Amino acid sequence: MDNTTPLPVGLTKDEIKRRVTEMVRTVFRKTIETASSQQIYNALAYTIKDYLSDRWIATHDQYESQDVKVVYYLSMEFLMGRFLGNAVLNLSLDETIREAMEELGVDYNLAEDAEADPGLGSGGLGRLAACFLDSLSTLGYPAYGCGIRYHYGIFEQHIENGYQIEKPDNWLKFGDPWSVRRDEYAMEVRFGGKVNSVKDEQGVYHFVLEDYHSVLAIPYDYPVVGYNTNVVNTLRLWDAEAIDRFDLQSFNEGNYERAVEEQNLARRLSEVLYPADNTVAGKELRLRQQYFFISATIQRVLMRFTEKHKEDFSVLPDYVQFQLNDTHPSLAVAELMRILMDTYYVSWDQAWEITRKTCAYTNHTIMSEALEKWPIELFSRLLPRIYMIVEEINRRFCANLIDWFGNDPNKIRNMAIVADGQVRMAYLAIVGSHSVNGVAAIHSNILKTQELRDFYDIYPEKFNNKTNGITQRRWLAKCNPGLSRLITQNIGDGWISNLDELTKLKPLAGDAGFQTDFMRVKRENKVLLSNYIKQTSDLSVDPDSIFDIQVKRLHEYKRQLLNIFHIIDLYNTIKMNPYMEIVPRTFIFAAKASASYHRAKLIIKLINSVADLVNNDKTVNGRIRVLFMENYRVTLAEQLCPAADVSEQISTAGKEASGTGNMKFMLNGAVTVGTLDGANVEMLEEAGEDNIFIFGMTAAEVLALTQSGTYSPWNLYNMDYNIRFVLTSLINGTLAPGEHDLFREIYDAMLNGYGGARPDEYYVLQDFQSYKNAQFKINNAYKDTARWAEMAINNVATSGKFSSDRTIRQYAEEIWRIKPIQVKL
Ligand SMILES: *Cc1c(COP(=O)(O)O)cnc(C)c1O
Repeated sequence: MDNTTPLPVGLTKDEIKRRVTEMVRTVFRKTIETASSQQIYNALAYTIKDYLSDRWIATHDQYESQDVKVVYYLSMEFLMGRFLGNAVLNLSLDETIREAMEELGVDYNLAEDAEADPGLGSGGLGRLAACFLDSLSTLGYPAYGCGIRYHYGIFEQHIENGYQIEKPDNWLKFGDPWSVRRDEYAMEVRFGGKVNSVKDEQGVYHFVLEDYHSVLAIPYDYPVVGYNTNVVNTLRLWDAEAIDRFDLQSFNEGNYERAVEEQNLARRLSEVLYPADNTVAGKELRLRQQYFFISATIQRVLMRFTEKHKEDFSVLPDYVQFQLNDTHPSLAVAELMRILMDTYYVSWDQAWEITRKTCAYTNHTIMSEALEKWPIELFSRLLPRIYMIVEEINRRFCANLIDWFGNDPNKIRNMAIVADGQVRMAYLAIVGSHSVNGVAAIHSNILKTQELRDFYDIYPEKFNNKTNGITQRRWLAKCNPGLSRLITQNIGDGWISNLDELTKLKPLAGDAGFQTDFMRVKRENKVLLSNYIKQTSDLSVDPDSIFDIQVKRLHEYKRQLLNIFHIIDLYNTIKMNPYMEIVPRTFIFAAKASASYHRAKLIIKLINSVADLVNNDKTVNGRIRVLFMENYRVTLAEQLCPAADVSEQISTAGKEASGTGNMKFMLNGAVTVGTLDGANVEMLEEAGEDNIFIFGMTAAEVLALTQSGTYSPWNLYNMDYNIRFVLTSLINGTLAPGEHDLFREIYDAMLNGYGGARPDEYYVLQDFQSYKNAQFKINNAYKDTARWAEMAINNVATSGKFSSDRTIRQYAEEIWRIKPIQVKL
């Protein structure tokens, strides 16, 4: 970089006013007075993007001049949330912009609210990727996020008559001000065709693909601004387009329809995100999407590498790391092999050594329905050369297995990458990587001792744990200004870049003055949420009631059913004891169900039916309220976390790999009721047992009960009339007047097993009494305001471990071996 180039270091209030006014005028032909919030937002976004361009360029100049090692975080999903507020916060421009907008007579909140919430992810996995990018930039690590620019993100959820309705999410409708389209880095990605071998002048055979279809991959770059640093990394999302020359040729042949078809084939690739979470659809288009962004990314990375290092690929692992976010990007292993061998004529053995050193894999789940396996006929038809390579990786791997274990067909069947007619993506990722990590201590242990035990036996050195984290910039500084201010007033603002500093709050947990301030902020946040609820669903909730919140994807293993069964039980109890004294409680749910997940959708209907019953019952008289908020997404999570008193993290032990929602609530001073699952286990360690409500079976107990084959929900039904009343209300018309069979499926699933599943597969009834006890303790604990405040403050004070800054530092030091850079302006 030329040091003499003057770079702007500050954006003044007047400059913001001038630029926004100018932008509104030139782009929209409007004045500030007549511009819509949407137009003001766009003008602001362009202004900020413009402002950070110098840092963005300087960051990449720094990559170049220092020739640093870069990590490429490969992910099908990036659930980024809105950009503007986050960028403004990280650039410390928040106050300046507010003042500028005020002087222009513009409502900044409305402008912020005009931004779409890009739902390019379906849940925790995509949100984790977004938190990681924030930490990577803040810590100054050279990094790219690489994914797909879906034109439609996760569907918009509406609730009609208690049922989920899906609507397309057209997030690009009003433009895409944060992106920079990089036509100069477009890549061709090839599908189908057949593999031939041709002899070169030296008489060596090389494999070539013929008669393929190709699609053009165009990168759109989005800036990822670090907090209080000049580092701006890049989120690179690939968009699919038809290749012009193909169209032209068909057009010349008079085959207009063929040309249109090509266009559609290409467009469909990046059209829409598959909305399933923790389960696979096994659709051809999904495999196409995976190869599309992986091939484009790896081609581009190798191109960039050769510009600097020619074809000395032996040093590739010193400059490049690929982190595979779950198995979705595991084609990277075979694609890297392909390019090294077919394009650069690297030998198999050398290519394999390079590939294994360059790739690392994160496992996110042990749910068997989430394990990606592709039918061989589909895989080999769509990706014939990649399939050849996977077969050869598998052949060599199986030969090793025979060396190690003898000729044991069961061992091969259990561990082979290609077996029983399928390609197993997790095994490809494990064999082709130097690191395999789980996302919380308990999860990593389950991988080693159960799910991936065979692989741990042969590759113990690969296995490690990286407990997930969240970025405190978005999940406290941005979303909870009241609490942020209070914390900063008391311990300074060091926590924004070093979350461990929150331990300084510990001595204040018992301080009456601080408790009062803390509870005042919590109440203000509850009032804000109540107002929002009033506006959006015309329901009144009492800010002095306990706000008890369970928000996450709707999944049986997450056990929204346990929560709603407890509410039905509370309702039954109030009906039988009308004078019962309980602390008023507002139960809030929000969750998207996968569009094809029938049971999950029925559970949404059940929650809404319980809400109708409870909220309209005169006997209840507002003591409990139930609310299902529609369209759970990052923006809604940002409103809910600050207002929560109780955080529901109640998955069947052993099923939730980590969870990150649990961390967001802890950071915002909610008290958790949870099982010993995922990161809850570590939250207990950090907060101490006096500050968290743990209940239910342990993962070991779940495993033992499952293996014993003795679990009988009928026994619980027979012995516990409360359980009997709850289950009966599912089928006697209480919850579905005139439609009393509506919820029979759930009743059957609990007691008899439905559609071949074991009865009560997720042990809702087994954990019911224990959950109920925990909820009763919460009710009593809340009555002692000082005690409750102390618990909540202790949660904030001990949440430092769950910063994604800690997680990213561990990835960087233990897996990627990358170093931070300094960018000077
Ligand atoms: C954090 C987050 C999740 C993950 O929540 P879990 O409770 O860990 O499943 C899912 N969706 C959104 C929008 C989030 O912000």
